[in-house]
Amino acid sequence: MKHSPNNPLLLSSSLHVDEARAAIRNLVRELLQEGGSTQDSNFIETVTLDQALNRILAQDLLSPIDVPAADNSAMDGYAFDGTCLNTNNSEITLSIAGTALAGKPYEGSISQAQCLKIMTGALMPKGCDTVIPQEFTSSSNNQSITFTRSQLKAGENRRLRGEDLQKDQPAIVAGRVLRPSDLGLAASLGIASLQVHRKLKVAILSSGDELRSLNQALDPGSIYDSNRYSLIGLLNRLNVEIIDCGIVRDDPNSLKEAFINAAAKADVLISSGGVSVGEADFTKQILQELGDVGFWKIAMRPGRPMAFGILKPIPDQSNPRKTLFFGLPGNPVAVMVTFYQFVRSALLQLGGATQTEPPLTQAISETAIRKKPGRTEFQRAILGRAADGKPTVRLTGSQGAGILRSMSQANCFVILGHDQGNIAAGDWVDIALFEGLL
Ligand code: AMP
Ligand code: MG
Repeated sequence: MKHSPNNPLLLSSSLHVDEARAAIRNLVRELLQEGGSTQDSNFIETVTLDQALNRILAQDLLSPIDVPAADNSAMDGYAFDGTCLNTNNSEITLSIAGTALAGKPYEGSISQAQCLKIMTGALMPKGCDTVIPQEFTSSSNNQSITFTRSQLKAGENRRLRGEDLQKDQPAIVAGRVLRPSDLGLAASLGIASLQVHRKLKVAILSSGDELRSLNQALDPGSIYDSNRYSLIGLLNRLNVEIIDCGIVRDDPNSLKEAFINAAAKADVLISSGGVSVGEADFTKQILQELGDVGFWKIAMRPGRPMAFGILKPIPDQSNPRKTLFFGLPGNPVAVMVTFYQFVRSALLQLGGATQTEPPLTQAISETAIRKKPGRTEFQRAILGRAADGKPTVRLTGSQGAGILRSMSQANCFVILGHDQGNIAAGDWVDIALFEGLL
């Protein structure tokens, strides 16, 4: 990576959230261009449809057929030749010549004074281009129907061949994170397997002398390592392969060994803890030897300190590629916020996805919120609905960066922009729903 005096990777003064995001996006783009990623054709694999959910499509999926394959009825009703509507009579009566069912087409042909009973999805019989829905017709016997001419125009209630999708047109474009509807769409085209990017390998570790594993007793001053489990959950949402490197002590040799091990195996390493003032210095030293990492102070709350960059390939190891590195802060809420704001998009981008930004929406704040301009804030909140049906949002209690319960109770972030000041009750605010994301 080239360094220039204005390379934000080297900035240590306060960085705008958008600058941090742009620097991450650019570095990931460089990695993709170097080919050290899932973009390489060696990194494409074929999966059957039942295994394809949440995988990232690697090639445009071209439709092998027209959809629908032939003109068919959009309604239950009666099919006829629409030229019979060219008359001055206000009522039209047609005799019923037979029935066309979905999967059982009518083979014969009919005259202009005739119609066919037809079901939704049945092929349009020869000579018919229009369908009158059943409920617009009356019939005194089972041999003919009568309807008012003004109720429809010629050609209505018919689905045309290729109307949904034409042969050789992309049904799903490369870079899509595959959703249930995409699997259904592929199946409707008769496609049984898809080309997808291989899963990213993401290593995680927690650093801190105070951290204990879940099966250990808590001695005075120690706490359970919760960050690794939040990260496991967040990473599972993104469908990556997780390499759990456990807890690492605040000791230069242990940390160095852990970073080297992770870089030898993973596309991405995410650590938490050890990047705040006081601790950052010795982490910095190690990372300087192993790669090119910036220590950022981001103008955001929570989540101010964060390290980001690359670890160089380790000589004689199986992974010849650079490893993307995120050193997240230790506070449990800050871990989730920085993951949401920075890591998620980077993993999607590196994994081959084109749509990487999480969706935002807006709601009305139920209360006033204090906010200083000059930093982006991510407050935990619950989205609800007012009596008039408008979306409303209220904060979940104490907003400290270590209070994971505020995150667990919440169903969204209220995101207050860098330049925004205090919020009054009744103001609209940006929100990001957790569902599907966090
Ligand atoms: P640090 O960034 O290492 O100074 O950590 C900031 C705060 O987060 C401290 O109170 C740590 O005890 C806490 N912390 C760090 N890592 C974890 C972890 N894996 N699980 C829970 N809390 C953590
Ligand atoms: Mg620490």
